[in-house]
Amino acid sequence: MSGTIYTPQEISKGSAHVTSKLNKKFDRTDFMIKNMKYNSAYKNHLLQNKLEDGDFLILKDFKERYSEYRKKWKSQPVEAFKNLGKNITEKSFFETVKPLCIDIETAAICDLACPHCYREYLITPDKIMNEKLFKKIIDEISAIKIPSIKLNWRGEPLLNPKIYDFISYSKKMGILEVSINTNATQLNLSNSSKLLDSGIDLVIFSFDGGTNSTYEKMRPGRFKKNTFENVYQNIKKFCELKKKRKQIFPITKIQMVLTENSRDEVDEFYELFGGLINDITVTQYQERGGKIDDLKKNQKDRLNKYIYKNNLDQNVPYMVSPDDKIFVSTSRIPCEQLFQRLMITYSGKVGMCCHDWGAKHTVGYIDEKGFDEIEDIKKVKKNIVNKNKGFTLLKDAKLPEELNKPEKKVQNIIDIWKNEELKKVRQIHKEKKVSQLKVCENCTFKETYNWKSID
Ligand code: SF4
Ligand code: SF4
Repeated sequence: MSGTIYTPQEISKGSAHVTSKLNKKFDRTDFMIKNMKYNSAYKNHLLQNKLEDGDFLILKDFKERYSEYRKKWKSQPVEAFKNLGKNITEKSFFETVKPLCIDIETAAICDLACPHCYREYLITPDKIMNEKLFKKIIDEISAIKIPSIKLNWRGEPLLNPKIYDFISYSKKMGILEVSINTNATQLNLSNSSKLLDSGIDLVIFSFDGGTNSTYEKMRPGRFKKNTFENVYQNIKKFCELKKKRKQIFPITKIQMVLTENSRDEVDEFYELFGGLINDITVTQYQERGGKIDDLKKNQKDRLNKYIYKNNLDQNVPYMVSPDDKIFVSTSRIPCEQLFQRLMITYSGKVGMCCHDWGAKHTVGYIDEKGFDEIEDIKKVKKNIVNKNKGFTLLKDAKLPEELNKPEKKVQNIIDIWKNEELKKVRQIHKEKKVSQLKVCENCTFKETYNWKSID
Protein backbone atom coordinates (compact mmCIF):
# COMPACT_ATOMS: atom_id res chain seq x y z
CA MET A 1 0.00 0.00 0.00
CA SER A 2 1.40 3.38 -0.91
CA GLY A 3 -0.21 4.96 2.16
CA THR A 4 -0.19 8.42 0.66
CA ILE A 5 -3.87 9.23 0.37
CA TYR A 6 -5.60 6.93 2.80
CA THR A 7 -7.91 8.56 5.28
CA PRO A 8 -10.76 6.97 7.20
CA GLN A 9 -13.81 6.38 5.03
CA GLU A 10 -17.43 7.05 5.68
CA ILE A 11 -20.24 4.60 5.48
CA SER A 12 -23.86 5.57 5.66
CA LYS A 13 -25.92 3.40 7.91
CA GLY A 14 -27.78 0.82 5.90
CA SER A 15 -25.86 1.68 2.78
CA ALA A 16 -23.56 -0.45 0.71
CA HIS A 17 -21.68 2.57 -0.51
CA VAL A 18 -18.50 3.81 0.99
CA THR A 19 -16.86 7.07 0.05
CA SER A 20 -13.48 8.52 0.81
CA LYS A 21 -13.42 11.81 2.62
CA LEU A 22 -10.71 12.97 0.26
CA ASN A 23 -12.66 11.98 -2.81
CA LYS A 24 -15.42 14.54 -2.33
CA LYS A 25 -18.80 12.92 -2.90
CA PHE A 26 -19.93 13.48 -6.45
CA ASP A 27 -23.44 14.90 -6.66
CA ARG A 28 -25.00 13.37 -9.76
CA THR A 29 -28.31 15.22 -9.45
CA ASP A 30 -26.60 18.56 -9.15
CA PHE A 31 -24.29 17.78 -12.09
CA MET A 32 -27.17 16.65 -14.30
CA ILE A 33 -29.28 19.69 -13.54
CA LYS A 34 -26.40 22.13 -14.05
CA ASN A 35 -25.58 20.54 -17.39
CA MET A 36 -29.08 19.72 -18.62
CA LYS A 37 -28.60 21.80 -21.78
CA TYR A 38 -26.12 19.12 -22.94
CA ASN A 39 -28.51 16.23 -22.22
CA SER A 40 -29.19 14.58 -25.52
CA ALA A 41 -32.94 14.10 -24.75
CA TYR A 42 -33.26 17.89 -24.36
CA LYS A 43 -31.24 18.60 -27.52
CA ASN A 44 -33.28 16.04 -29.49
CA HIS A 45 -36.53 17.52 -28.23
CA LEU A 46 -35.61 20.96 -29.62
CA LEU A 47 -34.43 19.47 -32.88
CA GLN A 48 -37.41 17.17 -33.44
CA ASN A 49 -39.89 19.95 -32.73
CA LYS A 50 -37.90 22.64 -34.54
CA LEU A 51 -37.90 24.71 -31.37
CA GLU A 52 -35.63 27.38 -30.03
CA ASP A 53 -35.57 27.68 -26.28
CA GLY A 54 -34.65 31.34 -26.03
CA ASP A 55 -36.43 31.84 -22.70
CA PHE A 56 -35.17 28.46 -21.39
CA LEU A 57 -38.64 27.36 -20.31
CA ILE A 58 -38.24 23.93 -21.89
CA LEU A 59 -34.86 23.56 -20.24
CA LYS A 60 -36.47 24.47 -16.92
CA ASP A 61 -39.07 21.77 -17.44
CA PHE A 62 -36.36 19.14 -18.16
CA LYS A 63 -34.47 20.19 -15.03
CA GLU A 64 -37.60 19.99 -12.90
CA ARG A 65 -38.51 16.56 -14.20
CA TYR A 66 -35.02 15.28 -13.46
CA SER A 67 -34.98 16.82 -10.00
CA GLU A 68 -38.38 15.28 -9.22
CA TYR A 69 -37.17 11.85 -10.37
CA ARG A 70 -34.12 11.99 -8.12
CA LYS A 71 -36.17 13.14 -5.12
CA LYS A 72 -38.73 10.42 -5.73
CA TRP A 73 -36.03 7.75 -5.84
CA LYS A 74 -35.85 7.92 -2.06
CA SER A 75 -39.21 9.44 -1.14
CA GLN A 76 -41.54 7.36 -3.33
CA PRO A 77 -40.85 3.99 -1.60
CA VAL A 78 -41.24 5.58 1.85
CA GLU A 79 -44.51 7.32 0.97
CA ALA A 80 -45.89 4.39 -0.99
CA PHE A 81 -45.28 1.90 1.84
CA LYS A 82 -46.92 4.34 4.24
CA ASN A 83 -50.01 4.66 2.03
CA LEU A 84 -50.24 1.03 1.00
CA GLY A 85 -53.52 -0.49 2.19
CA LYS A 86 -54.89 2.85 3.37
CA ASN A 87 -58.22 4.08 2.18
CA ILE A 88 -56.94 5.24 -1.21
CA THR A 89 -58.33 3.91 -4.48
CA GLU A 90 -55.91 1.87 -6.52
CA LYS A 91 -56.34 4.32 -9.37
CA SER A 92 -55.24 7.32 -7.36
CA PHE A 93 -52.44 5.37 -5.63
CA PHE A 94 -50.87 4.39 -8.96
CA GLU A 95 -51.50 7.76 -10.55
CA THR A 96 -48.43 9.07 -8.79
CA VAL A 97 -46.56 5.85 -7.93
CA LYS A 98 -44.97 4.80 -11.22
CA PRO A 99 -41.69 3.01 -11.96
CA LEU A 100 -38.75 5.42 -11.85
CA CYS A 101 -36.36 3.18 -13.73
CA ILE A 102 -36.58 0.16 -16.00
CA ASP A 103 -33.50 -2.06 -16.16
CA ILE A 104 -33.35 -3.62 -19.60
CA GLU A 105 -31.06 -6.57 -20.10
CA THR A 106 -29.66 -5.75 -23.53
CA ALA A 107 -27.14 -8.60 -23.11
CA ALA A 108 -27.40 -11.57 -20.75
CA ILE A 109 -24.04 -12.92 -21.98
CA CYS A 110 -20.81 -11.93 -20.24
CA ASP A 111 -17.20 -12.47 -21.32
CA LEU A 112 -15.87 -12.59 -17.76
CA ALA A 113 -16.43 -15.12 -14.98
CA CYS A 114 -15.87 -13.11 -11.82
CA PRO A 115 -15.76 -15.45 -8.80
CA HIS A 116 -18.06 -13.17 -6.80
CA CYS A 117 -20.72 -12.99 -9.51
CA TYR A 118 -24.01 -14.88 -9.26
CA ARG A 119 -23.47 -15.99 -12.91
CA GLU A 120 -20.98 -18.56 -11.63
CA TYR A 121 -23.71 -20.06 -9.40
CA LEU A 122 -26.93 -19.52 -11.35
CA ILE A 123 -27.01 -20.41 -15.02
CA THR A 124 -27.63 -17.33 -17.16
CA PRO A 125 -28.29 -17.57 -20.92
CA ASP A 126 -25.63 -16.39 -23.37
CA LYS A 127 -28.12 -14.23 -25.19
CA ILE A 128 -28.69 -10.64 -26.30
CA MET A 129 -31.93 -8.67 -26.71
CA ASN A 130 -33.21 -8.08 -30.23
CA GLU A 131 -34.00 -4.66 -31.64
CA LYS A 132 -37.73 -5.25 -32.04
CA LEU A 133 -38.23 -6.07 -28.37
CA PHE A 134 -35.96 -3.25 -27.27
CA LYS A 135 -37.86 -0.66 -29.28
CA LYS A 136 -41.21 -1.99 -28.07
CA ILE A 137 -40.04 -1.51 -24.47
CA ILE A 138 -38.65 1.98 -25.10
CA ASP A 139 -41.79 3.12 -26.90
CA GLU A 140 -43.86 2.19 -23.86
CA ILE A 141 -41.40 3.75 -21.42
CA SER A 142 -41.39 6.95 -23.45
CA ALA A 143 -45.20 7.07 -23.65
CA ILE A 144 -45.62 6.77 -19.88
CA LYS A 145 -42.65 9.08 -19.21
CA ILE A 146 -40.53 6.80 -17.05
CA PRO A 147 -37.50 9.03 -16.41
CA SER A 148 -34.61 6.57 -16.46
CA ILE A 149 -33.35 3.29 -17.87
CA LYS A 150 -30.31 1.15 -17.20
CA LEU A 151 -29.33 -1.01 -20.14
CA ASN A 152 -27.92 -4.03 -18.35
CA TRP A 153 -28.70 -6.51 -15.63
CA ARG A 154 -27.07 -9.92 -15.72
CA GLY A 155 -24.47 -9.47 -18.46
CA GLU A 156 -22.11 -7.15 -20.30
CA PRO A 157 -24.07 -4.63 -22.42
CA LEU A 158 -21.21 -3.83 -24.83
CA LEU A 159 -21.48 -7.43 -26.10
CA ASN A 160 -24.68 -6.41 -27.85
CA PRO A 161 -23.44 -4.82 -31.11
CA LYS A 162 -26.64 -2.76 -31.31
CA ILE A 163 -26.13 -1.13 -27.92
CA TYR A 164 -24.99 2.21 -29.37
CA ASP A 165 -28.12 2.44 -31.57
CA PHE A 166 -30.26 1.38 -28.59
CA ILE A 167 -28.89 4.26 -26.51
CA SER A 168 -29.40 6.81 -29.31
CA TYR A 169 -32.95 5.55 -29.87
CA SER A 170 -33.76 5.89 -26.15
CA LYS A 171 -32.43 9.44 -26.04
CA LYS A 172 -34.40 10.33 -29.20
CA MET A 173 -37.50 9.00 -27.45
CA GLY A 174 -36.90 11.46 -24.64
CA ILE A 175 -35.63 9.24 -21.79
CA LEU A 176 -34.02 11.66 -19.36
CA GLU A 177 -31.29 9.38 -18.04
CA VAL A 178 -29.75 6.40 -19.81
CA SER A 179 -26.96 4.46 -18.11
CA ILE A 180 -24.93 1.28 -18.34
CA ASN A 181 -22.64 -0.72 -16.09
CA THR A 182 -19.76 -2.15 -18.06
CA ASN A 183 -16.66 -4.25 -17.39
CA ALA A 184 -14.94 -2.24 -20.20
CA THR A 185 -13.30 -5.26 -21.84
CA GLN A 186 -14.85 -4.28 -25.19
CA LEU A 187 -14.20 -0.57 -24.86
CA ASN A 188 -11.58 -0.18 -27.59
CA LEU A 189 -11.15 3.18 -29.32
CA SER A 190 -13.79 2.54 -31.94
CA ASN A 191 -16.39 1.47 -29.35
CA SER A 192 -15.40 4.38 -27.12
CA SER A 193 -16.10 6.74 -29.95
CA LYS A 194 -19.51 5.13 -30.64
CA LEU A 195 -20.42 5.26 -26.95
CA LEU A 196 -19.47 8.93 -26.76
CA ASP A 197 -21.59 9.63 -29.86
CA SER A 198 -24.62 7.77 -28.51
CA GLY A 199 -25.82 10.44 -26.09
CA ILE A 200 -25.50 8.22 -23.01
CA ASP A 201 -25.71 10.05 -19.68
CA LEU A 202 -23.91 7.76 -17.23
CA VAL A 203 -21.31 5.01 -17.66
CA ILE A 204 -20.42 2.94 -14.59
CA PHE A 205 -17.24 0.88 -14.79
CA SER A 206 -16.74 -2.17 -12.58
CA PHE A 207 -13.08 -2.65 -11.71
CA ASP A 208 -12.19 -4.76 -8.68
CA GLY A 209 -8.75 -4.16 -7.26
CA GLY A 210 -6.05 -1.55 -7.09
CA THR A 211 -3.34 -3.91 -8.30
CA ASN A 212 -2.75 -6.14 -11.26
CA SER A 213 -2.92 -9.38 -9.29
CA THR A 214 -6.15 -8.63 -7.38
CA TYR A 215 -7.89 -7.35 -10.49
CA GLU A 216 -6.96 -10.40 -12.57
CA LYS A 217 -7.99 -12.74 -9.75
CA MET A 218 -11.36 -11.01 -9.34
CA ARG A 219 -12.11 -10.54 -13.05
CA PRO A 220 -10.96 -13.58 -15.06
CA GLY A 221 -11.92 -13.93 -18.73
CA ARG A 222 -14.33 -16.68 -19.73
CA PHE A 223 -13.07 -17.22 -23.26
CA LYS A 224 -9.58 -15.67 -23.07
CA LYS A 225 -7.31 -14.06 -20.50
CA ASN A 226 -8.57 -10.72 -19.25
CA THR A 227 -5.78 -8.35 -18.24
CA PHE A 228 -5.62 -5.41 -15.87
CA GLU A 229 -3.53 -3.44 -18.34
CA ASN A 230 -5.94 -3.82 -21.25
CA VAL A 231 -9.03 -2.83 -19.27
CA TYR A 232 -7.27 -0.02 -17.43
CA GLN A 233 -6.05 1.41 -20.75
CA ASN A 234 -9.57 1.08 -22.24
CA ILE A 235 -11.05 3.12 -19.40
CA LYS A 236 -8.23 5.65 -19.41
CA LYS A 237 -8.40 6.18 -23.18
CA PHE A 238 -12.19 6.47 -23.08
CA CYS A 239 -11.90 9.23 -20.48
CA GLU A 240 -9.12 10.96 -22.43
CA LEU A 241 -11.19 10.85 -25.61
CA LYS A 242 -14.17 12.33 -23.77
CA LYS A 243 -11.92 15.13 -22.53
CA LYS A 244 -10.43 15.73 -25.97
CA ARG A 245 -13.91 15.99 -27.44
CA LYS A 246 -14.82 18.41 -24.62
CA GLN A 247 -17.90 16.35 -23.79
CA ILE A 248 -19.71 16.93 -20.51
CA PHE A 249 -21.58 13.65 -20.79
CA PRO A 250 -21.46 10.83 -20.02
CA ILE A 251 -20.85 11.13 -16.31
CA THR A 252 -18.29 8.45 -15.49
CA LYS A 253 -18.31 6.40 -12.33
CA ILE A 254 -16.09 3.53 -11.30
CA GLN A 255 -16.69 1.08 -8.49
CA MET A 256 -14.68 -1.52 -6.65
CA VAL A 257 -16.12 -4.20 -4.40
CA LEU A 258 -14.39 -4.68 -1.04
CA THR A 259 -13.12 -8.22 -0.56
CA GLU A 260 -10.34 -9.69 1.57
CA ASN A 261 -7.84 -8.81 -1.19
CA SER A 262 -9.12 -5.43 -2.34
CA ARG A 263 -9.71 -4.11 1.19
CA ASP A 264 -6.03 -3.03 1.40
CA GLU A 265 -6.04 -1.50 -2.08
CA VAL A 266 -8.43 1.40 -1.67
CA ASP A 267 -5.61 3.96 -2.00
CA GLU A 268 -4.24 2.38 -5.15
CA PHE A 269 -7.73 2.28 -6.62
CA TYR A 270 -8.21 6.01 -6.02
CA GLU A 271 -4.73 6.72 -7.40
CA LEU A 272 -5.45 4.77 -10.61
CA PHE A 273 -8.60 6.68 -11.44
CA GLY A 274 -8.28 10.04 -9.66
CA GLY A 275 -8.47 12.88 -12.19
CA LEU A 276 -9.94 10.59 -14.85
CA ILE A 277 -13.37 9.65 -13.52
CA ASN A 278 -16.17 11.86 -12.14
CA ASP A 279 -17.19 9.53 -9.32
CA ILE A 280 -14.93 6.91 -7.71
CA THR A 281 -16.76 4.57 -5.35
CA VAL A 282 -15.91 1.64 -3.15
CA THR A 283 -18.81 -0.63 -2.26
CA GLN A 284 -19.39 -3.35 0.29
CA TYR A 285 -19.15 -6.88 -0.97
CA GLN A 286 -22.61 -8.40 -1.31
CA GLU A 287 -22.62 -12.17 -1.32
CA ARG A 288 -23.96 -13.56 -4.59
CA GLY A 289 -23.29 -17.23 -4.05
CA GLY A 290 -19.51 -17.26 -4.37
CA LYS A 291 -18.70 -17.38 -0.65
CA ILE A 292 -15.80 -15.02 -1.25
CA ASP A 293 -13.90 -13.98 1.84
CA ASP A 294 -14.55 -10.33 2.43
CA LEU A 295 -13.08 -10.19 5.93
CA LYS A 296 -9.54 -10.22 7.28
CA LYS A 297 -8.72 -12.61 10.11
CA ASN A 298 -8.94 -10.01 12.88
CA GLN A 299 -12.31 -8.87 11.57
CA LYS A 300 -13.63 -12.43 11.57
CA ASP A 301 -12.44 -12.86 15.14
CA ARG A 302 -14.12 -9.66 16.30
CA LEU A 303 -17.35 -10.55 14.56
CA ASN A 304 -17.40 -14.09 15.99
CA LYS A 305 -16.68 -12.81 19.47
CA TYR A 306 -19.60 -10.37 19.21
CA ILE A 307 -21.92 -13.05 17.87
CA TYR A 308 -20.97 -15.40 20.71
CA LYS A 309 -21.26 -12.74 23.41
CA ASN A 310 -24.67 -11.60 22.20
CA ASN A 311 -25.97 -15.05 21.43
CA LEU A 312 -26.69 -14.15 17.80
CA ASP A 313 -27.24 -16.46 14.87
CA GLN A 314 -23.94 -17.46 13.22
CA ASN A 315 -25.33 -16.21 9.90
CA VAL A 316 -26.32 -12.76 11.08
CA PRO A 317 -25.83 -10.35 8.15
CA TYR A 318 -22.85 -8.05 8.60
CA MET A 319 -20.76 -5.50 6.76
CA VAL A 320 -17.39 -3.86 7.35
CA SER A 321 -16.31 -0.38 6.30
CA PRO A 322 -12.76 0.24 5.02
CA ASP A 323 -11.88 2.01 8.26
CA ASP A 324 -12.58 -1.28 9.97
CA LYS A 325 -15.96 -0.71 11.58
CA ILE A 326 -18.14 -3.81 11.74
CA PHE A 327 -21.93 -3.60 11.57
CA VAL A 328 -24.48 -6.35 12.20
CA SER A 329 -28.08 -6.34 11.15
CA THR A 330 -30.77 -5.79 13.75
CA SER A 331 -33.87 -6.06 11.55
CA ARG A 332 -35.21 -5.71 8.02
CA ILE A 333 -36.60 -2.68 6.21
CA PRO A 334 -39.26 -2.85 3.45
CA CYS A 335 -37.36 -2.98 0.20
CA GLU A 336 -37.29 0.31 -1.69
CA GLN A 337 -36.74 -1.44 -5.04
CA LEU A 338 -40.37 -2.58 -5.04
CA PHE A 339 -41.44 1.01 -5.59
CA GLN A 340 -38.52 2.12 -7.77
CA ARG A 341 -37.91 -0.20 -10.68
CA LEU A 342 -38.64 -3.29 -12.75
CA MET A 343 -36.13 -5.54 -14.50
CA ILE A 344 -36.68 -6.95 -17.99
CA THR A 345 -34.57 -9.85 -19.19
CA TYR A 346 -33.26 -10.21 -22.75
CA SER A 347 -36.30 -12.34 -23.61
CA GLY A 348 -39.03 -10.20 -22.06
CA LYS A 349 -39.41 -11.88 -18.67
CA VAL A 350 -39.93 -9.36 -15.85
CA GLY A 351 -38.25 -9.46 -12.44
CA MET A 352 -39.01 -7.24 -9.46
CA CYS A 353 -35.52 -6.18 -8.38
CA CYS A 354 -31.85 -6.33 -9.32
CA HIS A 355 -31.05 -8.86 -6.57
CA ASP A 356 -33.22 -11.66 -7.94
CA TRP A 357 -30.33 -12.70 -10.17
CA GLY A 358 -31.93 -15.77 -11.69
CA ALA A 359 -35.26 -13.96 -12.28
CA LYS A 360 -36.55 -16.70 -10.00
CA HIS A 361 -39.45 -14.68 -8.68
CA THR A 362 -40.81 -13.69 -12.09
CA VAL A 363 -43.65 -11.16 -11.92
CA GLY A 364 -44.77 -11.12 -15.56
CA TYR A 365 -43.86 -11.10 -19.24
CA ILE A 366 -43.77 -8.32 -21.75
CA ASP A 367 -42.99 -10.67 -24.62
CA GLU A 368 -43.91 -14.26 -25.28
CA LYS A 369 -40.26 -15.20 -25.87
CA GLY A 370 -39.89 -14.81 -22.12
CA PHE A 371 -42.14 -17.85 -21.54
CA ASP A 372 -39.35 -20.16 -22.69
CA GLU A 373 -36.20 -18.67 -21.19
CA ILE A 374 -35.58 -22.00 -19.51
CA GLU A 375 -34.76 -23.54 -22.92
CA ASP A 376 -31.83 -21.11 -23.32
CA ILE A 377 -30.71 -21.90 -19.78
CA LYS A 378 -30.69 -25.62 -20.54
CA LYS A 379 -28.40 -25.01 -23.54
CA VAL A 380 -25.87 -23.34 -21.25
CA LYS A 381 -26.17 -26.26 -18.85
CA LYS A 382 -25.30 -28.65 -21.68
CA ASN A 383 -22.18 -26.65 -22.52
CA ILE A 384 -21.14 -26.70 -18.87
CA VAL A 385 -21.63 -30.46 -18.60
CA ASN A 386 -19.62 -30.97 -21.81
CA LYS A 387 -16.86 -28.69 -20.43
CA ASN A 388 -16.91 -26.64 -23.62
CA LYS A 389 -14.59 -23.68 -24.08
CA GLY A 390 -15.86 -20.65 -22.14
CA PHE A 391 -17.92 -22.79 -19.75
CA THR A 392 -15.32 -24.38 -17.48
CA LEU A 393 -15.34 -21.45 -15.03
CA LEU A 394 -19.12 -21.86 -14.79
CA LYS A 395 -18.82 -25.42 -13.46
CA ASP A 396 -20.73 -24.62 -10.23
CA ALA A 397 -23.64 -22.88 -11.95
CA LYS A 398 -27.04 -24.47 -11.30
CA LEU A 399 -30.46 -24.11 -12.84
CA PRO A 400 -32.33 -21.25 -11.13
CA GLU A 401 -35.34 -22.27 -9.02
CA GLU A 402 -38.75 -21.11 -10.19
CA LEU A 403 -40.12 -19.33 -7.12
CA ASN A 404 -43.10 -17.79 -8.84
CA LYS A 405 -44.81 -18.92 -12.01
CA PRO A 406 -47.04 -16.17 -13.34
CA GLU A 407 -49.63 -16.95 -15.97
CA LYS A 408 -47.99 -17.04 -19.40
CA LYS A 409 -49.57 -13.94 -20.86
CA VAL A 410 -48.04 -10.81 -22.31
CA GLN A 411 -48.75 -7.61 -20.36
CA ASN A 412 -47.48 -4.07 -20.62
CA ILE A 413 -45.07 -2.55 -18.10
CA ILE A 414 -47.67 -0.63 -16.12
CA ASP A 415 -50.02 -3.61 -15.82
CA ILE A 416 -47.16 -5.70 -14.42
CA TRP A 417 -46.21 -2.88 -12.02
CA LYS A 418 -49.78 -2.93 -10.68
CA ASN A 419 -50.37 -6.68 -10.79
CA GLU A 420 -51.51 -8.95 -7.96
CA GLU A 421 -48.13 -10.62 -7.44
CA LEU A 422 -46.30 -7.35 -6.86
CA LYS A 423 -49.13 -6.16 -4.62
CA LYS A 424 -48.71 -9.29 -2.52
CA VAL A 425 -44.93 -8.90 -2.27
CA ARG A 426 -45.20 -5.22 -1.29
CA GLN A 427 -47.76 -6.01 1.42
CA ILE A 428 -45.47 -8.71 2.87
CA HIS A 429 -42.62 -6.18 2.97
CA LYS A 430 -44.82 -3.56 4.61
CA GLU A 431 -45.65 -6.08 7.33
CA LYS A 432 -41.92 -6.92 7.64
CA LYS A 433 -42.55 -10.61 7.03
CA VAL A 434 -39.85 -11.00 4.37
CA SER A 435 -39.07 -14.55 5.49
CA GLN A 436 -42.31 -15.51 3.73
CA LEU A 437 -40.58 -14.75 0.44
CA LYS A 438 -37.75 -17.10 -0.37
CA VAL A 439 -36.09 -14.67 -2.75
CA CYS A 440 -36.05 -11.89 -0.12
CA GLU A 441 -35.36 -13.93 3.01
CA ASN A 442 -31.56 -13.91 2.75
CA CYS A 443 -31.21 -11.12 0.22
CA THR A 444 -27.81 -9.46 0.28
CA PHE A 445 -29.07 -6.00 -0.67
CA LYS A 446 -27.75 -4.10 2.33
CA GLU A 447 -30.35 -1.34 2.06
CA THR A 448 -33.04 -3.77 3.25
CA TYR A 449 -31.45 -4.11 6.71
CA ASN A 450 -31.08 -1.95 9.78
CA TRP A 451 -27.45 -1.92 10.97
CA LYS A 452 -25.77 -1.54 14.33
CA SER A 453 -22.06 -0.99 14.90
CA ILE A 454 -20.44 -3.64 17.11
CA ASP A 455 -17.41 -1.49 18.01
S1 SF4 B 1 -18.37 -8.65 -15.48
FE1 SF4 B 1 -20.18 -8.35 -14.20
S2 SF4 B 1 -21.76 -9.68 -15.07
FE2 SF4 B 1 -19.78 -10.34 -15.90
S3 SF4 B 1 -19.11 -12.01 -14.54
FE3 SF4 B 1 -18.20 -10.10 -13.78
S4 SF4 B 1 -19.63 -9.29 -12.24
FE4 SF4 B 1 -20.70 -10.84 -13.46
S1 SF4 C 1 -35.33 -7.72 -0.52
FE1 SF4 C 1 -33.84 -8.28 -2.07
S2 SF4 C 1 -34.81 -9.92 -3.25
FE2 SF4 C 1 -36.42 -8.88 -2.08
S3 SF4 C 1 -37.23 -7.32 -3.45
FE3 SF4 C 1 -35.62 -6.35 -2.27
S4 SF4 C 1 -33.76 -6.54 -3.45
FE4 SF4 C 1 -35.26 -8.00 -4.25
